Amino acid sequence: MSGILVIAEHTRGVLADISAEMTGAAYRLKQLFGGPLRVLIVGADAADFAASLCLPGVDEILVAQTDNAQFDAGTVGEIACLATMQHEPDTVLIAHSASGMSYASALAVHLGSGFAADVFALDKAEHGLRATRSGYGSKVNIELDFPDKSVVVLTIRGGTFQPAKGSGNAQITSFPVGSNLAGGSYRHEEFVEPASAGVDIGKAEFILSIGRGIQDEKNIPRFAALAEKLGATLGCSRPIADSGWLNKGHQVGLTGKVAANCRLYIALGISGAVQHLHGMKHVDTIIAINADTNAPIFNVATLGSTVDLFEFTDALEKLL
Ligand SMILES: Cc1cc2nc3c(=O)[nH]c(=O)nc-3n(C[C@H](O)[C@H](O)[C@H](O)COP(=O)(O)OP(=O)(O)OC[C@H]3O[C@@H](n4cnc5c(N)ncnc54)[C@H](O)[C@@H]3O)c2cc1C
Repeated sequence: MSGILVIAEHTRGVLADISAEMTGAAYRLKQLFGGPLRVLIVGADAADFAASLCLPGVDEILVAQTDNAQFDAGTVGEIACLATMQHEPDTVLIAHSASGMSYASALAVHLGSGFAADVFALDKAEHGLRATRSGYGSKVNIELDFPDKSVVVLTIRGGTFQPAKGSGNAQITSFPVGSNLAGGSYRHEEFVEPASAGVDIGKAEFILSIGRGIQDEKNIPRFAALAEKLGATLGCSRPIADSGWLNKGHQVGLTGKVAANCRLYIALGISGAVQHLHGMKHVDTIIAINADTNAPIFNVATLGSTVDLFEFTDALEKLL
């Protein structure tokens, strides 16, 4: 067994960003362990995405045309299984998304493979692949090796691997799926859009984030205006979103968004609970303003001050 199989993801006619990110991760695995690197795309409009998947390092794009106008976990899982058995990759990468999670573990059970979910780092260990994921509410990172497994299925966290960019020269091949796929255990009802926050924490490069230290909902417009003047995206801790002061889309952390592309993060009145740190501790420059000298946010801060956050905000507003 050798090589990598990436199961690309798409929704409503749009290829998900994670598809290029997984391909970027797979290209690195190809350099470490050897190829070939194949990308499988499944669906009624699968062929439409083949050209976009022709990325550096990809050797072959398997196009599995089905009748499913919408994602169907049973069908995609079954075709992913057929492709794995036919091409015998040693690693299968699937998005750690609502769609990917709905069939990845079942695929691993079916194949008797190694499995890790929500993987954010990949490396070479003594006995092959090493995958890193977090555990215990993001308190620890767990490194997993798979010494006795001929194939490993991994779900990959979005926004953590550099997407493959540019174009490659992959061969585009039809992957025949036959007419007797089991599928059908899921029925697509409708798409329900989440209420839009108008922000994308995952893509923001500069985030001004507010926590319970801002004390009152009536202070929100002030910090929103400050973020706008600074050219920052407004982020927040969970209590701010849970109270309905800001839309959930602003929340940074374990049950919010990871500030994957952020380079400057200003935290105002945020204590730095592990669940919040999960979404921002990797940022290059973190400026923390917190009145409590012992607040854990200072453990990850590049610069910090125990000044009152309202005094800090007054001073900043005067400068702008
Ligand atoms: C399963 C689970 C998932 C979670 N997911 C998330 C998540 O995704 N994101 C998240 O953020 N949290 C998450 N949490 C909640 C998390 O544990 C914390 O409760 C939360 O992050 C605390 O938010 P905070 O820092 O705003 O509030 P607090 O912990 O109350 O901190 C407020 C801080 O403001 C400071 N402060 C107060 N007044 C001032 C002032 N005038 N000037 C300066 N500083 C001041 C205080 O010293 C304090 O440190 C999760 C929890 C669980 C159990």
